[in-house]
Amino acid sequence: MNYLAGEYDVIVVGAGHAGCEAALASARLGCKTMMITISLEHIALMPCNPAIGGPAKSNLVREIDALGGEMAKNIDRSFIQIKMLNTKKGPAVRALRAQADKTSYHLKMKRVIENTENLDVRQGIVEEVLKKEGKVRGVITDTGAKYFAQAVVITSGTYLRSKVLIGLNSVSSGPQGQMPANKLSENIEELGFKIFRFETTTPPRISKKYVDFNKMKIQPESKGKMQFSFFDRIDPYPEKQIPCWLTHTTEKTHDVIKKNLEKSLLISEEIKGAGPRYCPSIEDKVIRFPEKKKHQIFLEPEGWDAQEMYVQGLYTSMPEDVQWAMLKTIPGLENLKIIRPGYAIQYDCIDATQLNLTMEARHLEGIYFAGQVNGSSGYEEAAAQGIVAGINAALKIKGKESFILKRSDAYIGVLIDDLVTKGTREPYRMLTSRSEYRLLLRQDNADLRLTEKGYQAGLVQEDNYKKFAQKKEEIENGKKFLGSITVNPNKENLEKLEELGTAPVKSPTTLAQLLKRPEINHEDLKVFNYEIINYDREIIEQVQIQIKYEGYINKQLEQIEKFNKMENRKMPANINYLEIKGLSSEAREKLTNIKPHSLGQASRISGISPADISVLMIYLEQLRRKEKMK
Ligand SMILES: Cc1cc2nc3c(=O)[nH]c(=O)nc-3n(C[C@H](O)[C@H](O)[C@H](O)COP(=O)(O)OP(=O)(O)OC[C@H]3O[C@@H](n4cnc5c(N)ncnc54)[C@H](O)[C@@H]3O)c2cc1C
Repeated sequence: MNYLAGEYDVIVVGAGHAGCEAALASARLGCKTMMITISLEHIALMPCNPAIGGPAKSNLVREIDALGGEMAKNIDRSFIQIKMLNTKKGPAVRALRAQADKTSYHLKMKRVIENTENLDVRQGIVEEVLKKEGKVRGVITDTGAKYFAQAVVITSGTYLRSKVLIGLNSVSSGPQGQMPANKLSENIEELGFKIFRFETTTPPRISKKYVDFNKMKIQPESKGKMQFSFFDRIDPYPEKQIPCWLTHTTEKTHDVIKKNLEKSLLISEEIKGAGPRYCPSIEDKVIRFPEKKKHQIFLEPEGWDAQEMYVQGLYTSMPEDVQWAMLKTIPGLENLKIIRPGYAIQYDCIDATQLNLTMEARHLEGIYFAGQVNGSSGYEEAAAQGIVAGINAALKIKGKESFILKRSDAYIGVLIDDLVTKGTREPYRMLTSRSEYRLLLRQDNADLRLTEKGYQAGLVQEDNYKKFAQKKEEIENGKKFLGSITVNPNKENLEKLEELGTAPVKSPTTLAQLLKRPEINHEDLKVFNYEIINYDREIIEQVQIQIKYEGYINKQLEQIEKFNKMENRKMPANINYLEIKGLSSEAREKLTNIKPHSLGQASRISGISPADISVLMIYLEQLRRKEKMK
């Protein structure tokens, strides 16, 4: 028997990485929000790798922070190790990556959620989404509790009709023994959403006590202080950090796998979901790269004093005894003890091309989807979708303009545009190569690109906005300063240039021009008794990058100008593409299904040809003239 348990503006289903960002955004924008999740003990659970960040993912984390989200602050409060990756490469691919204390990450996020105004959280399983006259009306839980709301954000992750597979066994279960969400999956299908079956795998966890670290290579943290958040300084900064360890599989490991391939449901193809191309199981790796004698394995601690160690690189769903036999062949793990076996999980996700760039469904008003349920993979990808869905649910209820990030604004814009315009047939993971403008969408300037937008949306707090505005000003001052100081080709300066190992100057040269030289960096300029006074490391980094890469950056800005010409040509939502002469039948079908937001988005739909785009441009021009005549 259902009973009315409450009324809210926004209901968020799920407390994973998408759910937390969506609920916090909606509540912080002043909407009465409720978050319902299967288990409160699993809020912000990290069911897979105990890490946040890495190439392209760190850009997402910093973009979420720049918009006023929580993930960056939460990992800064709970990391056990932090590293800057790709330091020898350009700023476009430099990436922060932090190992998290999983329990601390969960508890810290839970505290933030529980202490946020306008936000209630409860344990329960949502089984049905209520709708009335094409609009969402609320949800019903497994205990019959009915909650009304104007918007519902589904962030159900890897739980929809989830099945856990180990060897030839498969059980109906969510990650880490939690309940699956079977009924909600059926209901989402009844609501007219196309469903895909995806899968992903996680490696075993082993006990630290039985590891022989002498047979491995230590992977320590990076030197110097670093953090994800632009706003909340970590204070005090951790005095010590915990290392990871590097070892590798052996030919013996590969033999064990080859001898037991028929014992894996995934390999035996008995039941199949689309798996992650960039996190292949070790079975897949051994089959696909037979020539490789060894594969790297990283042992990652799961917490400050946790016994559990995550065996990164050994994703597997082999039977437990085979996992044990595989692990024993790895240098340092000869005497191991498994704490949790590796497993694969299959789950339902929706075809995200049924959503708008606001994450709202096109055919059912008021329902939003974010995270793994949209076919993405990764904590960061989920959180990025969550914050955009939460902002848009709140803005719509407040009758305000929707919040859309373009591919030229952010990796979040690339992520959402790829999912809703092109869709995905396997778990979608963010990569720097997915962006056309990666030199501009760097992790170091996410605040300069997005904080103004987060502030206009109402999510960035006043004090953080002030910090941001001051930083922007200091960067401009720093650039002007270096452009205003000239080094003259006198004997003293030429000697200094020689000491720096750079070419002499023939005419008066500004410090900014000198800084453009690859061999010169800001520190070196001090020899000319000029330095950027009292600016912190981040400011100097920005000044240096913006001066050194000015040429490339300007080129990308020109490309973006061209891109925005198409992106700013809005496609009216009520166009009947079936009537437009000259369009191919495939184009008519695809455009009718996806109802692109702009001409730019239309051009990215697979199957839409340049000829179709020309037809649309003429059609839009005719529409514009007709409007003008009215
Ligand atoms: C086995 C496994 C392996 C993985 N491997 C990788 C990997 O290799 N690389 C990678 O990047 N990522 C991997 N991940 C994925 C990563 O965990 C997810 O990308 C990330 O957690 C997705 O976040 P999310 O918020 O979308 O969903 P989740 O973190 O899955 O959270 C979903 C939330 O929804 C709740 N929920 C679901 N249904 C209901 C309902 N009906 N009612 C109420 N609450 C509900 C759950 O309780 C949970 O809180 C893996 C995950 C698993 C489980």
